[in-house]
Amino acid sequence: MSIIPDKQIQEIKELLSVSRKIVITTHNNPDGDAVGSSVAMYHYLKQLGHQVTMVVPNMYPGFLAWIPGIKEMLVYDRQAAQVKHVLTESEVVFCLDFNAINRLGSVSDVIGRSSGKKILIDHHIDPETDSFDHCISTVDISSASELVYYFIVQSGHKNLINKEVSEALYAGIVTDTGSFSFSCNRKETWEVMADLIARGVDAQKLHRLIYDTFTEDRLRLLGFAIHKRMIVMDEFHAALIYLTKSDLKRFHYKVGDTEGIVNYPLSMDKINLSILLTEKDKMIKMSFRSKGDFSVNELVRKHFNGGGHKNAAGGKSFTTVEKAIEEIKKVLPLYKDQLNYVLSYDS
Ligand code: 5GP
Ligand code: MN
Repeated sequence: MSIIPDKQIQEIKELLSVSRKIVITTHNNPDGDAVGSSVAMYHYLKQLGHQVTMVVPNMYPGFLAWIPGIKEMLVYDRQAAQVKHVLTESEVVFCLDFNAINRLGSVSDVIGRSSGKKILIDHHIDPETDSFDHCISTVDISSASELVYYFIVQSGHKNLINKEVSEALYAGIVTDTGSFSFSCNRKETWEVMADLIARGVDAQKLHRLIYDTFTEDRLRLLGFAIHKRMIVMDEFHAALIYLTKSDLKRFHYKVGDTEGIVNYPLSMDKINLSILLTEKDKMIKMSFRSKGDFSVNELVRKHFNGGGHKNAAGGKSFTTVEKAIEEIKKVLPLYKDQLNYVLSYDS
């Protein structure tokens, strides 16, 4: 079964049939899937003899630092000149785990320096197809990492999925499925996992490296967020957590420390929507999660400058934390009926 159309695979194979200067890039605030798919693609393309550079707009979270090869990444925030140089030289740019150029954050201002072919491999809704020369995009697949696995296999290079490629793909799939708690109903995703284990992945060890390496500050921030900063709105089956800059400072915030906090309110019965507001330098970052049928992608696209998936989306607000909470409280009544459901065995 072909997940990716064979014609696309053939065209890209043709493009890669000689040694190329390649940039791999991914979205701002890179997560496990962004980084995992990039590093896997990096190890794969290097084996084919290409000159490959990975670029991220800003720093990846520390709990991913164990991924072999991740330290080769250029971080635009810190290495702007080098990034501009490799982009100018590049003949091919792989764009992984994002669907629109503005998701590149600061890199969106310099991506135009590349006259190379842009190849999108992504699983978000509504890709900006005009921005890419090849669009490999499907929303049914757990992660960009799973798609990269199919890309390599369909290119006839399953033998190149070595331990390093496998470990990076594992990191992407396990994080984008919330440790196999969502987007995990295709049996093929589990078959990919089984194959990665056969290729050397120690799933238990890597899970610990991702999820059991919190600092004390990070765990206390989580406790504080739930205890002191959570507003439960039963009438809308929703809960909101907000974290101000001074909250983050108090717990010596490091990139990645707020990862996962937004999921906790959903562990309450009858709460179908969870929102996390994080105060940043020039805006409020908004994370949305839902369980069941409610689409946070639609909610965020319509009201909060962003998008994502049906059950996980992100947006932003250029106001204060207080005003963002007010905005949310104004919008939720519009969705009162849609949010009014109770998950049970029969639903
Ligand atoms: P998170 O809440 O973890 O930042 O993001 C959840 C999901 O929404 C991820 O799949 C992410 O790629 C997507 N997402 C986050 N922020 C934005 C945004 O500003 N715009 C769009 N289109 N998607 C976003
Ligand atoms: Mn993803």
